Amino acid sequence: MLDLLKAAAAGGYAVPAVTVWNAESMKAVLAAASDLRSPVILMNGPAEFNLLSPAEMGDVARAVALRYNVPAALHLDHGDSLELVRQCLDAGYTSVMVDYSSRPHEENAAALRQAVEMARPHGASVEGEIGHVGRADIPSAEAEGDSTLTQVAEAVAYVAATGVDALAVSIGNAHGLYTRLPRLDLQRLGEIRSAVGIPLVLHGGSGTPEADLKRAISLGIAKVNVATEIVTVLRESLLEQWQVQRTSWLPVVMAGAMKTMPPLVEKWIRATGSAGRA
Ligand code: 13P
Repeated sequence: MLDLLKAAAAGGYAVPAVTVWNAESMKAVLAAASDLRSPVILMNGPAEFNLLSPAEMGDVARAVALRYNVPAALHLDHGDSLELVRQCLDAGYTSVMVDYSSRPHEENAAALRQAVEMARPHGASVEGEIGHVGRADIPSAEAEGDSTLTQVAEAVAYVAATGVDALAVSIGNAHGLYTRLPRLDLQRLGEIRSAVGIPLVLHGGSGTPEADLKRAISLGIAKVNVATEIVTVLRESLLEQWQVQRTSWLPVVMAGAMKTMPPLVEKWIRATGSAGRA
């Protein structure tokens, strides 16, 4: 994954990282990337491993990716243990994220240091998060959500202590559907980028206004994570297809719904400026 992110940082664009959970969703992302000649990151984590184990996910991703001639990474998103990191590395994941961002700094840094040591022999890259990207759709009583902004000095210490290849930042972004427009702290982003000098990651891509996204990319965001927006449209489409299709045959209904996914991925490829970069 680091190769894709370095090229993106040098080229002034970001690589979209899209959550996938089965062969069909991987195919939808790869087809869109292939059509627009874009590098792409397929990602999944603990919730998706309810459907397929990391080993199965790796096998399926490789099988589907063989049919598409685009640079693609397979990434563990929000890994919650080093045991899961081990499983994903064994399964051939090209990169892993360990999200200990809600734990104390030292615990977060120690785990990421270990993840980096585990990943190196596999040639895999590692993403960490300092500060905490919370959720947009379940704000706390104060309506401020549960995020903690990334502090520049803390980010510098964290990168030095861990050796992570990419850093997820909390700059006003949040996971899920925004109930009000996000206000990204772009000055903070620029300061973090100058201070740490590694590719930065924007979690919570869904609902980010395109102009903000472009500014964030110009200030060092090289990977944009997207999930909720796509899954929400798929859910609507699936419900509609159950009504429209004159059959209860699940594959037919699902095939109808899955048609909505490639255009959404294409929208993100265009928004991140990664079209034509493969
Ligand atoms: P959204 O679901 O808000 O797009 O965020 C996705 C994400 O950051 C996954 O790590």
